[in-house]
Amino acid sequence: MGHRFDTKSVHVTMKRNGGIPAKVTPIHQTSAFTFENLADIEHFFEGERNYLYTRVGNPNTDELGQAVADLEEAPSGLATSSGLSAIMVGVLAAVKPGEHVLASNDLYGGTYELLANELTSFGIEVSFVSFEDDMEPYIQDNTVLLYTESLTNPLLRVEDLTKVVATAKKHNIKTMVDNTFATPYIVRPYTKGVNLVVHSATKYIGGHSDITAGVLVGDEDLIAAANTKCVNLGSNLSPFEAWLTVRGLKTLAVRMERHVQNAKQVAEALTNHPAVDKVYYPEFISEKGNGAIVSIDITENANIEQFLESLDWIKIVATLAGVETSVSYPLATSHRSLPPESQKELGITKGLIRISVGIEEAEDIIQTLKQALDIARK
Ligand SMILES: *Cc1c(COP(=O)(O)O)cnc(C)c1O
Repeated sequence: MGHRFDTKSVHVTMKRNGGIPAKVTPIHQTSAFTFENLADIEHFFEGERNYLYTRVGNPNTDELGQAVADLEEAPSGLATSSGLSAIMVGVLAAVKPGEHVLASNDLYGGTYELLANELTSFGIEVSFVSFEDDMEPYIQDNTVLLYTESLTNPLLRVEDLTKVVATAKKHNIKTMVDNTFATPYIVRPYTKGVNLVVHSATKYIGGHSDITAGVLVGDEDLIAAANTKCVNLGSNLSPFEAWLTVRGLKTLAVRMERHVQNAKQVAEALTNHPAVDKVYYPEFISEKGNGAIVSIDITENANIEQFLESLDWIKIVATLAGVETSVSYPLATSHRSLPPESQKELGITKGLIRISVGIEEAEDIIQTLKQALDIARK
């Protein structure tokens, strides 16, 4: 190292990891990795050492991808910059131009936009049909992928993954499932034969509403292909966000346990409320419970605006799955761009509220929601 001040000021803080036995993985907040010599570079390309450049790979993003793969009982995983970029590289890994994706018609709005408006411009054909009915008649000669969600938004339809996988296998095609709402705590689609499982890690995987990230896990060959797409399309996650997501992931099970218990109680408590026409909360998904999203349809003669303004500490947000209870209004946010006929068909009404039940005391959540419903009904 040079000893002139300006040189020193550049190098003095660059302490290499001298084998410090840190208890948690340090943040490798670096855009690139150094090489000893030309032979060392060759070692990288021969697979004898890891890490070249963070867009191509980084210990923190690798840790997250592998951790979620382990939880999903899949062999391989990849972390990306967002849930949507994980979906993008997953679909691009499985589908070539000229091939067809058959997707469920009640997908997350952003996924719908990605498939319908962006991936079609890559030459990929997409059609959307109800997966509740038999999807088999819609499989075409060029169909290579069935795409759906294990638990849908906002009306919480539970996908019959056994049926989806059986249909796909019969036609020798692949399956991809968004497991964001259910999480591997409740459902592990890979164990049911699904090829690719995707998460908006922005939601329960991270759990604290402080990152935007995605994870894709599944078959080794598909994840390797998706990784190449991720590198070439620049969809990598930052090391710091990967680190925060891993930090959140450590408490996934305890968070989910509380989320699920609370959601069950909220669903029960609101079922007979006079301001509520209908409560959407699924049943029998797994012995671990039925997720932590509860949607309610508020009756026509109650005032929705007053309800939303009377929620006290419960905030209105266009996301879900944080430790704090929050609500969203699908008609104005996630399902805003749908034509009114589709909104009606999917049950996105004027009174529909999606509640992301947090990990607070259930009684406090119930009391606050009931109070707002009482005010709205006056
Ligand atoms: C939020 C969400 C996405 C998109 O994830 P981002 O992290 O916002 O890109 C995809 N699918 C579902 C079910 C989601 O809730």
